[in-house]
Amino acid sequence: MILKERTKSINHLLLESLNYRMDLSFNEKILYENQIKGLKGEQLFDDCMNDSQLTGLIINDLLISTRDTHFQIDSLLITADRIYLYEVKNYSGTYHYRDGSLFSGSGHALQDPLAQADRKRAYLYNLLLNFGYQTEITSYVVYINPDFYIYSLPSTRSIIFAGQLPKHFNDLVKQLPNATDRIAALGDKLVKLHDYNFRPANLPEYTFDQLQKGILCPECFSFRHTASRQFRLCSDCGHQEKIAEAIHRSIGEFRLLFPAVDLTKDFIYEWCGRDCSKSRIQVVLKSNYHTHFAGRGTYYS
Ligand SMILES: [Zn+2]
Repeated sequence: MILKERTKSINHLLLESLNYRMDLSFNEKILYENQIKGLKGEQLFDDCMNDSQLTGLIINDLLISTRDTHFQIDSLLITADRIYLYEVKNYSGTYHYRDGSLFSGSGHALQDPLAQADRKRAYLYNLLLNFGYQTEITSYVVYINPDFYIYSLPSTRSIIFAGQLPKHFNDLVKQLPNATDRIAALGDKLVKLHDYNFRPANLPEYTFDQLQKGILCPECFSFRHTASRQFRLCSDCGHQEKIAEAIHRSIGEFRLLFPAVDLTKDFIYEWCGRDCSKSRIQVVLKSNYHTHFAGRGTYYS
């Protein structure tokens, strides 16, 4: 059973919005592309896991923040006798293993994903211990791209290559005990720890004035559209959406980019590229947010 579905991370959503509304630097573009590639790999992993009909509890993309650090865990499978932690990597190409590091053909070293997964395992173990759960945790690094190979890799059971993943899950299905109330409570506790407000530290700099205004198509990120009374039709991919939903979605994007700015009808009117009437925007704001009457005008939260 899936306790937490995978969605685009806040980092992914922020870079996505900025990518279509301003010029990202070369390095920022790479960060955005890595988000897309990472999510694609994780979704392939999810498909494989879901196909296998496992009896445990699944938590995808768990982000736990403490005062000095944060941990992002790609996938957890909670079973009655242990937790399986999966670190999913969507690398492609060939690498060499040497002294605990991976080296690309050009000689660049990658952070050792096994060490990364093991740090997360230890962190999660201690966290659960503080909650009174002494649970064994096994961590794996999954290289989900079939076009990935490591030369000179010492034999380890902690690495799973794409072709081995279905067998890994099929073997687990045969040996997993049934879920219990105890693990359900543990799963709920972990899901509640997920930090929905996390904001990455290395975001590109941006201001409201600098960003291109308008409503982005949720499918192809085009601004170009035609509209009828109720619907908005993307001129590039043909995606159709209710105008009220498109405004609501754009308000969400605005809040993500500018969490400290008071939400007002005028700001959203500008944000949506003056495409929708202020009265229509007000209806969406009123029906989805709390209204506050302040000296300088009405705002929403
Ligand atoms: Zn579109």
